[in-house]
Amino acid sequence: MSEPEAILQAAAQPGEEPVDRALRPKTLDEFVGQEQLKKNLKVFLEAARRRSEPLDHCLFYSPPGLGKTTLANILARELGVNLRTSSGPIMERVGDLAAMLTDLSEGDVFFIDEIHRLNALVEEALYPVMEDYTFFISTGKGPAASTLKLAVPRFTLVGATTRAGLLTGPLRDRFGIVGNLGFYEPRELEAIVRRSANILAIPIDEEGSREIARRCRGTPRIANRLLRRVRDFAQVEGGGKVNGELARYALERLEIDPAGLDAADRRLLRVIIEKFDGGPVGLETLAIAVCEELDTLTDVVEPFLIQAGFILRTPRGRLAAPTAYAHLGLPQPRRAPELL
Ligand code: ADP
Repeated sequence: MSEPEAILQAAAQPGEEPVDRALRPKTLDEFVGQEQLKKNLKVFLEAARRRSEPLDHCLFYSPPGLGKTTLANILARELGVNLRTSSGPIMERVGDLAAMLTDLSEGDVFFIDEIHRLNALVEEALYPVMEDYTFFISTGKGPAASTLKLAVPRFTLVGATTRAGLLTGPLRDRFGIVGNLGFYEPRELEAIVRRSANILAIPIDEEGSREIARRCRGTPRIANRLLRRVRDFAQVEGGGKVNGELARYALERLEIDPAGLDAADRRLLRVIIEKFDGGPVGLETLAIAVCEELDTLTDVVEPFLIQAGFILRTPRGRLAAPTAYAHLGLPQPRRAPELL
C-alpha cells in the first residue's frame, strides 16, 4: 500500500505503538468527547469504588482508532489496578486463557482486543469466568479425563470489538456495561490535535489544527498521525510552525482531500458510480472490484464514508449518494424513484 493510502488507515501501523501510548489520555477528564459514555463510566466507577467491588465487565465497540484501548487503560488507572492485555486471535487455546487468568490479581482489568475473534472453545471457557469467576479446565483424555474447577480473582473484563454484530449473544449478554464510541466532532478533534501538539511540542495555530481535524475521518488516531506528518512538512519545507496554509499544503501533498478522503476512498466511490452505475452493489462484489479485503471494507473504509454521507446502505447493497457525485465533480444520476 502506498504512503498516502496507509496514512488514513484507522488501525495502528507498524511502529506506531510507542507514540500512540505517549499520546493516550490517562484520565477520563483528559479523554476528549464521548460525553455520555464518559458520564456513565464515572458513575459506574464511583459505585464500584463505594461498594469495594470490581467494576462490571465492559464491552466497547467502534471502528478502529476511536479510543477503546485508551478507555481500558483509563479504567485500570482510575481504579488503581493493573491492566493485562490480550486479544481474540492471540488466545488460540483454553490454556492461553488460563495463563492470563492466573496472572490476575483481585480487581484487575483484563483487556481483550478484537474479542469477536476468540475461538469458540476459549469463548465458552470464558462464560463461567465472567459470571462467577470460576474457570473449568479439562485434563487428560478419554476415561482418564477430568475437569478441574479453579477460582479466579474477581476482575473486570474489558472487551473491544470493531464488529459488535459478530459477537455471539451469550458473550454479549455477559457484559454489564456496553459502550458504543462514535466518530468525533470537528471541535473535539481540534482539541485532540492541540493536546497532542502540546505533548509533542509542535507549534500549531488554530487554523492549522482545524485543517487536520477536518481531514482525519473523525478518528483521533488519524488526527495524531496527520499531525506528525504535517510537522515533517513544516520542519523541512516551512518555517517549523504549522498554520492553516502549511497544513493545507502538506495534506494535499499526502493526497488527502478537504473531506478527508484519500485516493482509495475516491476510487471506491468512482467504482460504485462508474462500474455499477451508482449502485446498489453488494459489498462482496465491491470488495472484489476494488481488490480490497471484505473485512477492511466493512470495518475501516465504509463506516466513515457512510457516516460522512458519501455511501448509502440499502437492503439491496451500497449506493453512491448525491454528495459522492458532487465531491468527484460528476453529474448527478437519474435514479429510479425506488432507489431514492
Ligand atoms: P482503538 O482501541 O479504538 O483502536 P485507541 O484507544 O488505540 O483506539 O486510540 C488511538 C489513539 O487515538 C490513542 O493513542 C490516543 O492517543 C488517541 N485517542 C483516542 N481517543 C481519544 C480521545 N477521546 N481523546 C484524546 N485522544 C484519543
